[in-house]
Amino acid sequence: MSAYALGPLLHEGKAKRVHATDRPDLVAVEYKDDATAFNALKKAQLAGKGWLNCQISALLFEQLASRGIPTHYRGLGQGEHAGHWMLVRPVRIIPIEVVIRNRAAGSLCRQMPISAGTPLDPPLLDLYYKDDGLGDPLLTEARLAYLGLLDGEQRTAVERLARAVNAALQDIFERVGLILVDFKIELGYTEDQQLVVADEISPDTCRLWDRGVQDASERILDKDRFRQDLGGVVEAYGQVLKRLQGVCPEPLIYR
Ligand code: UDP
Repeated sequence: MSAYALGPLLHEGKAKRVHATDRPDLVAVEYKDDATAFNALKKAQLAGKGWLNCQISALLFEQLASRGIPTHYRGLGQGEHAGHWMLVRPVRIIPIEVVIRNRAAGSLCRQMPISAGTPLDPPLLDLYYKDDGLGDPLLTEARLAYLGLLDGEQRTAVERLARAVNAALQDIFERVGLILVDFKIELGYTEDQQLVVADEISPDTCRLWDRGVQDASERILDKDRFRQDLGGVVEAYGQVLKRLQGVCPEPLIYR
């Protein structure tokens, strides 16, 4: 017998569908094969991407939990939900994308006089307002205060949690020969007001370079392969999963 029954669709995003379950403390997330970039101007179906991102996210959420970092993750789906579904705690997502950059890439290099690959120490932390219609604009102190999305204490907690996630992810990827260039996370509050890491952590949301490869295109193992039409997107994500499986235990199945 299954541990839960699927309820109605609560939300459909670009890469995932979020369903209610018959349990108030459990939400089911389905990872899709849809790939989008440039605020969904570029779209494709990449067979196997949903499965890979679900497995990679599960391994990373479990690694974070084992280091005392709270996440919404409860376990992977089973039966007809095996592979590309995960069960999570319901959270109220803060409409802010937190980006941490260990090296310069992407929008930072387009907007600032910094060349790609420049190490950033301490890592740069940027907050963006999560709104596709507005193109997820960069938040300034004044805009953040105007929107009233976080008070001072919450802001400190968000930044502290994001920097702890960065330290943990850097360590994990370092162990498998990958450079964590930058990443985006979303945070949320559980019903009991605990701040947790939510959404996903995958090559769709992280820039990852193969440490052993010098060539600037060949070393890319993340969504930049799709953004830049480099090909081999699913193969690159598969490489990330394979390496993580070498150092992480099998992910939990939710029962
Ligand atoms: N990112 C993301 N979702 C977004 C925007 C960015 O997951 O809506 C990730 C992106 O994959 C990269 C990091 O956040 O790992 C920084 O992205 P950047 O600001 O450089 O923007 P981009 O170059 O992707 O437009």
